[in-house]
Amino acid sequence: MNDYLGKRSFRINALDYTLIVLLSFMTIVSISVLFEDISFGISEAIDYIVDITFIAVFAFPIYKIIMGRITQKKAQTLALIMYQNPDSAMTITEVQQSYISKTGKVAVTESAMEAMLIRLIDKYYLKNMNYDIASHNLISLIEKAPTASFITVICKNCGAQNRIIKGDIQVCQSCGNPLN
Ligand SMILES: [Zn+2]
Repeated sequence: MNDYLGKRSFRINALDYTLIVLLSFMTIVSISVLFEDISFGISEAIDYIVDITFIAVFAFPIYKIIMGRITQKKAQTLALIMYQNPDSAMTITEVQQSYISKTGKVAVTESAMEAMLIRLIDKYYLKNMNYDIASHNLISLIEKAPTASFITVICKNCGAQNRIIKGDIQVCQSCGNPLN
């Protein structure tokens, strides 16, 4: 469970697919009506405008659903990048490089990446993260699991196992000898 995924990344897709099927059918019907009107040679411009309006009314929601699905995919990739990152902050360059390596989309520039992040956070596709425009950092609002930075060190003096924070200078819990 990725806590960086916002509420809009969890839409029920079965409904979308049902809608696409229905709307596609209606779009095809509207297009065939238009062709029928053309073949019958109806000359009134208003008839064609009505036909084209019907096509647009049915086709536009299909476009919106597909675009929403693409946005969800982007959000899922970015949520995964933040989830897998050990630190609580990432530079935009790190985000961009991870995104490219996961998706293969080499054309994504840093400024496009920035705009995407701001939009996805703003539109509730992503949560628990903030993009700081001034420092160009993506910041996690969830504390990263501290267990990730713990290491086990065996004391050279007494052989006792000590769990310490990596990089921290500490002494053995059993004999007080410095651990290194
Ligand atoms: Zn010891």
